[in-house]
Amino acid sequence: MRRPILAANWKMHKTKGEARAFVEAFLPLVADADSVDIVLAPPFPLLDCVGQALAGSAVALASQNVHPAEQGAFTGEVAAGMLADLGCRYAIVGHSERRALFGESDAFVASKATALLARDVLPIVCIGETLEERESDRTFDVLRTQLDGSLIAVPAERAADVVVAYEPVWAIGTGRTATPEIAQEAHAFVRARLRERFGEAGERIRIQYGGSVKPENVRVLMSQPDIDGALVGGASLEPESFSKIVHFEV
Ligand code: PEP
Repeated sequence: MRRPILAANWKMHKTKGEARAFVEAFLPLVADADSVDIVLAPPFPLLDCVGQALAGSAVALASQNVHPAEQGAFTGEVAAGMLADLGCRYAIVGHSERRALFGESDAFVASKATALLARDVLPIVCIGETLEERESDRTFDVLRTQLDGSLIAVPAERAADVVVAYEPVWAIGTGRTATPEIAQEAHAFVRARLRERFGEAGERIRIQYGGSVKPENVRVLMSQPDIDGALVGGASLEPESFSKIVHFEV
């Protein structure tokens, strides 16, 4: 009942030429993948060119960040309306790299999600515990705090427009994937909390897993009942690799 969503987070990688070459190679590889949502999140300067290259395809465009203000004196920032104007369907917010390296709080992430929904750009809200938090048995407290804080302003009638990405920080870019059991346990916790918060609409929110997802491990992760997709960094940079992830059922 929840349509799988596989998203590529390119982080700060690729030139215009490399991005165009990716899309040219990637689209034919995923032309048959019509039962999943496929999303590419290039860096800001590539949104326009990747959006143009994706035109007419079913692959959606996403940004990796947004500023909550509508416009104004925010040097270096990008507003939700600008993303909508460029054809972004989704935007990643609250990625652990932004939380850790740029000090983003749950309240700031919440204001970004609100700004995006106002422009009908669907937020992919990232949450996840560090290794230290997991080893000191604080995983569920951290997930609850991040989830509640980051979604605090989302009304129940917009809940199904939100995607949550559970990304254990210790699994991002480390090659160390959460076992399917660990991932499912966290996803089930998140699902229960979403149900408490949004009622039936909480069942419709898609929860992606992120953290060293690769063609070799995506299938077993996606077979877990509460894992509805993947947010993929390193393995999304090559068309063949990301297309194998998109075809996880095959
Ligand atoms: C990410 O950055 O969201 C991510 C999951 O990265 P990787 O797949 O490289 O671990």
